[in-house]
Amino acid sequence: MSGCCSTAQDAACSRPETNVGSCPACKQNGRLVATRTVKNLVCDHTRVAAAATYYFCRTPECAVVYFSDEGTFHKSDIKVRVGIKEQEDPIPLCYCFDYTRADVSHDLALRGHTDIPALVKAEVQRGFCACDVKNPSGACCLGDLARAIQQIKSDRQVMASPEEIEGEDS
Ligand SMILES: [Zn+2]
Repeated sequence: MSGCCSTAQDAACSRPETNVGSCPACKQNGRLVATRTVKNLVCDHTRVAAAATYYFCRTPECAVVYFSDEGTFHKSDIKVRVGIKEQEDPIPLCYCFDYTRADVSHDLALRGHTDIPALVKAEVQRGFCACDVKNPSGACCLGDLARAIQQIKSDRQVMASPEEIEGEDS
C-alpha cells in the first residue's frame, strides 16, 4: 500500500473487486488494509494475527473497523476516532498533520475556502506523511479531505438563505 499519497490516491489505491472481502456486520465490501496499519491502530496489538488479511469497512454507520477470517475489530478496539464513522466532533480527517472536519468547516465559514488540502499535499510531497500507520484506512487522507470539503460546502448552501450567500464576501 505504499505510494498511496497522491491526489489520484483513490484510483491508485483501490483494489480490484476480486480482492475485496465483505464486512460481517454491514455486508458491504471493505478495502484491503496492511496488517502493519491494523497492528499500529488496534489497542491490543496481540489480538492482530500477523498472517491474516484485514479489510477496512468504510460504511459510516457500521461499528466494524477491521475484519478478517481471524477476527473483527470495532470502533471501541481502535486507538483513534475513525473520521468516516463519526458524526460528532472531533472528526479527524488528516491523521498525519492533525486536521479535523471542524478545522475545514471553520476555514470555509470564515473565508469560503481552505488551504488545508494544499498544506497536507505539500507535506506529503516532502515525504513527511505516515498514513500507513496513522490513518485507520491506511491510505492518504487527501481524498477524504476533498469529499469533506464538498459535503460541507453543499450543506452550507442548503442552510444559507440567498441573502447570506450574496453577502458572504462583504
Ligand atoms: Zn461494516
